[in-house]
Amino acid sequence: MKRIGVLCLLLCLLLCGCGGDQPVKGTHFAMDTVLSFTVYGAKGKQALAEAETLMDELDAALSVTDENSQIARYNRGEPDALSPETERLIRQGDALEKETEGAFSPRLGALTGLWGFSSDTPHRPEREALEAAKGDRSRLDLGGIAKGYAAGRLREAWEALGIKSALAALGGNVLALGEKPDGSPWRIGIRDPFGGQEDLLGALEVRDTCVVTSGGYERNFTEDGVTYHHILDPETGFPADSGLASVTVVCRDAARADALSTALFVLGREKALDFWRGSEGLELILVEQDGTVTVTDGLWDAFSGTGEDFTYVREA
Ligand code: ADP
Ligand code: MG
Repeated sequence: MKRIGVLCLLLCLLLCGCGGDQPVKGTHFAMDTVLSFTVYGAKGKQALAEAETLMDELDAALSVTDENSQIARYNRGEPDALSPETERLIRQGDALEKETEGAFSPRLGALTGLWGFSSDTPHRPEREALEAAKGDRSRLDLGGIAKGYAAGRLREAWEALGIKSALAALGGNVLALGEKPDGSPWRIGIRDPFGGQEDLLGALEVRDTCVVTSGGYERNFTEDGVTYHHILDPETGFPADSGLASVTVVCRDAARADALSTALFVLGREKALDFWRGSEGLELILVEQDGTVTVTDGLWDAFSGTGEDFTYVREA
């Protein structure tokens, strides 16, 4: 009888993995979006608490709407508004502007402010105001890179805690730290840009990288029957209209992945693929308005398409 008891206990321990294999999960609201965390290991609770604090800190520093943020203070012309860390992030943003031939810019604050996507009353601007704001690079908006940057900071914080296996979803930015405790890859759902929040067009198996998706569905409004979304083409000043419905970027550098998802959405399929051919450590899933899904070579085996209305193409 006693032996059976011990056996049962052992079996329980095996099945539950000594309790350590159950992840700690949590959600938090910051950066204008729902953040969700899954952390394996003994320090899961601490990792979650640190994540929430870090996300709140970065939100308070980088938000374009919070009038006390560094960005808002800079945009009001206050001297010394930016911390050295924020200046470094802006330099990375500026470098990405060069690299993407202007498709991404961290300095579109005048233009994005005019459209008002981060406000309660977004609207189509008057032509003259738009022309003026288009060339204005005096105001910052880090909305296209901040969540990715936050994901990168989160990885550093979690690694410092010794976390080996965790997942964070910051809006469309997914950080996959390590792999699952059983050694299998993380499975990330890729959203169907034509469907609702829960609809997927496929799944991607990844280890230790970032998966970032940008699409016009994230934030938009309709005026006089026309829908305007929040990813702007700096050249026209209007929402990007490149034929793409969404861009997914897989790249280990989280901030870079975020900025590139925005930039390649602006550039369109052909230029995005040219960019991919010229880059190391970058893979893409491009969804066109006509339902064609282009998956670059390095992801093809890790990707499984599940959407019935899509055509999946491998780019080699
Ligand atoms: P999301 O924030 O929905 O994940 P993105 O990462 O694509 O989407 O970022 C979009 C945000 O970035 C916009 O809300 C705006 O603040 C800013 N933005 C819009 N167009 C650009 C652009 N061409 N370059 C840099 N930032 C942009
Ligand atoms: Mg982005």
